[in-house]
Amino acid sequence: MSKTLQTMPGYGIPLVLDKAVNVSECIRLEAGEPNYVTPKYICDAAARAMEEGYTKYTPLLGYASVREAIARDNSEKVGRRIDLSEVIVTTGATMALHNALRAVAEEGDEVLLPDPCWPAYKMQLHSLGLKAVPYLMDEKNGMMPTREGIESLITPKTSVIIVNSPSNPTGAVFDEATIRMMIDLAVQYDLYVISDEIYDFLTYDGVKALSFKRFDPDGRVIMIGGASKKYAMPGWRIGFAIAQPEIVQLMGRVMTTYGMNTCCIAQKAYEAAITGPQDFVRESVESYRDRRDTTLAICREANVPVFSPQGAFYLWIDISASGMSADRFAEVLFERHLVGVAPGPAFGASGEGKIRVSIATEKEALCRGVRWICELVNENR
Ligand code: PLP
Repeated sequence: MSKTLQTMPGYGIPLVLDKAVNVSECIRLEAGEPNYVTPKYICDAAARAMEEGYTKYTPLLGYASVREAIARDNSEKVGRRIDLSEVIVTTGATMALHNALRAVAEEGDEVLLPDPCWPAYKMQLHSLGLKAVPYLMDEKNGMMPTREGIESLITPKTSVIIVNSPSNPTGAVFDEATIRMMIDLAVQYDLYVISDEIYDFLTYDGVKALSFKRFDPDGRVIMIGGASKKYAMPGWRIGFAIAQPEIVQLMGRVMTTYGMNTCCIAQKAYEAAITGPQDFVRESVESYRDRRDTTLAICREANVPVFSPQGAFYLWIDISASGMSADRFAEVLFERHLVGVAPGPAFGASGEGKIRVSIATEKEALCRGVRWICELVNENR
C-alpha cells in the first residue's frame, strides 16, 4: 500500500464532524458549507440540460459556452477581457488547485502556503510529492503575511506560492499593498502564484476582494474559483481556473488521467448560475453579514478575542483563555453542548489556541453555539 497516502496529513476537522453527523440535535459550526440549498433556477437549468441531451463526455477543458460565461463573469475582477483559452472548468476548486500544482511544480519542489490555511492544501502537496512551507498570516499585520516572513522561506527549490484571499479560516482579505508585495516577490524569485479566490464574492464593510490575477505581470498567476460557496452548490463539484493558455492545456492533460471532464450537468447548471439573476448571492451575502455582526457582538460582549473577518463565512476565535488546547476545547464543547467547531491546529501551527466557527449556519442555532463557546472560554478565567 502507498506509503505516501498512509503518511498524508489528516484533514483535521472530521474529528468533530464524524461525531456531529450522527447526532441530529447538535449545532454544526465546523463545516464550511452554506446552509442553503441550491437556488431553483440553477436546479431547473440542470434538469433542462439533461432533457436536452447534455449527458455525454464534454470537451476536456469544459463546454465552450461555460468557459465563455466564466471568462465574462471574471473579466471585471481581472481588469481585462479574458480569452476562452485561459479558462478550464474543473471538478470543484479542489481539482483546479490540484491540476494547477501538477501543471507548474515538479516533485521535490517547495511550495509556500499560508499558516493557517484550508487543510486540503497540505494534503494535496503531500500526495504530489511537494514540500509544504508555511508562511505566517501575521496577526500583528491584520492577518496578512509580511515580506520578511515570506522572503526568509524562499530557497532555490521554491516554485509556487499559494494565496487565499478572502482567507479560510481567518476571513482576512489581502489589501492591494500586500498583493503587490507578493507579486513582486514572485517575480523576483520566479515563482508561480496559485490564488484561491473561492470566497471573493463574500466581503463585508465595503472591503473589496482584489484578484491577484489583476496584478499578474506575465502569466504567472493562476486564479481559482468555484460554485460551492457562492451558489450553495458544494455537492455539484464545479470550479474553474483562469491561467495562461499553456498552463490551461497542461491542466487539461491532468483531466484526461484523473476523471476526464467535469460533470456535464453541473457545468450547465453553473452556466445558468452565473448568467442568471444574482438575487440569491446578494441576499445570502447580506444574511452572512448580519450573522457575522451578531456573533462578533456576542464574542466582544463576553470579552472573547476574535479576529473581525472582512470576508468569507468564518470566525477565528481565540480560546486560549480557557486554558485548554484547541483540540480539547472542541472535544469538551461537543461533549457538553453538542456544538461542533473546527480546532485551529487543523489549519496550521499558528492555529493552536484558536477555533474556526462557520457562520454559514442558521442564525438562532449559531448564536446559541457561539454563546456556549464564550461561556466555555470564560469558565476558568
Ligand atoms: N478553497 C477553499 C479556501 C475552501 O475553503 C474550500 C472549501 O471549503 C475549497 C477551496 C473547496 O472548493 P470546492 O468545493 O469548489 O472544491
